[in-house]
Amino acid sequence: MAARVQQAYSDLLHRVREAGVLASCGSALGWDESTYMPRNGSAWRGEQMGLLARLGHEMATDPKVGDLLAVVESSSLLADPVSDAAVNVREIRRNYDRAVKLPATLVGALAREATLAQGVWRDAKKASDFALFRPNLERLVALLREKADAIGHGGCRYDALLDEYEPAATTAEITHVFAALRAELVPLLASIAASGKSPNREIVQRDYPVDRQKLFGEAAASAIGFDFDAGRLDESAHPFCSGFGPGDCRITTRYAANHFNQAFFGILHEAGHALYEQGLPAEHAATPRGTYCSLGIHESQSRLWENQVGRCRPFWEHFFPRAKQTFPQALRGVSLDEWMFAINDVQPSFIRVEADEVTYNLHIILRFELEQAIISGDLAVADVPGAWDDKFSHLLGLKVPSDAMGCLQDIHWSFGGMGYFATYTLGNLYAAQFMETARQEMPGLEDDFRAGHFARLKGWLNTKIHAPGQVHRAGELCQHVTGKPLAHAPLMRYLRDKLSPLYGV
Ligand code: ZN
Repeated sequence: MAARVQQAYSDLLHRVREAGVLASCGSALGWDESTYMPRNGSAWRGEQMGLLARLGHEMATDPKVGDLLAVVESSSLLADPVSDAAVNVREIRRNYDRAVKLPATLVGALAREATLAQGVWRDAKKASDFALFRPNLERLVALLREKADAIGHGGCRYDALLDEYEPAATTAEITHVFAALRAELVPLLASIAASGKSPNREIVQRDYPVDRQKLFGEAAASAIGFDFDAGRLDESAHPFCSGFGPGDCRITTRYAANHFNQAFFGILHEAGHALYEQGLPAEHAATPRGTYCSLGIHESQSRLWENQVGRCRPFWEHFFPRAKQTFPQALRGVSLDEWMFAINDVQPSFIRVEADEVTYNLHIILRFELEQAIISGDLAVADVPGAWDDKFSHLLGLKVPSDAMGCLQDIHWSFGGMGYFATYTLGNLYAAQFMETARQEMPGLEDDFRAGHFARLKGWLNTKIHAPGQVHRAGELCQHVTGKPLAHAPLMRYLRDKLSPLYGV
């Protein structure tokens, strides 16, 4: 009996590993497509990706997986719920159930509509005309509702969509923490606006030669612990991080000669994601035990390095003199105080990806609320632009000038990614709560940063967040690491501590 269980578990792991290796082939091709693939290669790349997707789906839904799961699930192999075997089996079951519950016709229809909708969305955005995109979004929403029903939910369809990106998170829980955050962010933003203070923004918009930005960004990525022997930094139109597997994690950035922030903080962000990928336990590669916990936790790692570390004063006490050497013309006569204010500027703006640390979360809360209303049917797709503009003026105090600057700005809806946005603000919340605990557990951390040393923080994250893979769900991991459930207070404390001295609020 025990031997039969052991054999079934090994078979399961073998299958999951092979599916993971296959998926990583897709990641390698996807990275190439975004970086170096010649224009004319896209049709053939589509053939390659299509084949990989089909093979992956066949592996994920093979009834043999269900048979093997049935053998191991009733056994004592899973007695300890945090053992490697129990974690793997729990997640393999979850993924198998989700895969087999979705009819192949629905998966195909969603994939086709998403491909079509992305093309239409690009044109609609260019023309700044939501009406062009509307029929596609209506079809996608109908398919997403079907998908949610096929997966199953306890009465809230949106839960089933969220669960894909943030396993076990519920709309109710996220609404609760976002509402508390919103209630404090809106008045904070108002008092910043009323302060009458603003940095000299022109400082970060001077001439920063791209070749020098590259060297400076690589040095910073290296300093925080990105392993260039186990990864690469390249350029792409939309920056991303893609972990292929042990020893190979790719990140990208986009350089602007007249804007320091875009590439530099983008590199820290993606390097933060990469430290997570490089910190996953290699011996468990391509199995749930060696896979990241959730998108919210992934984003917490990028935001932690980009903002909590990369925008703090001790970090720049080390890096600013180096920045002055690297960019002598742009930074001549600029003081550290002026620099800190310029890179921590808070100002409402229309585009989410360019937003500061305060307003960014309001952009996300807006999307989170609209998506729920769209999926529940409370908001007709035709009424999205009006609802967007109303909410935007309410939350950020600006009148949206066009669909392109409003509801058409993000790609997510066009690929059917409703449920995704919440993970960005969850990432900010988790980052603040983790960092608060890290500071308590490691006194003098800021002195490390002043000296350009980040190994103690990286080591802490490696142990507490990266090494466990999927042992815990995101909420449990937070409780485990910080001793408390996720809350809005650490992020608010962090923002107030930083912004009070700058704006006098
Ligand atoms: Zn990210």
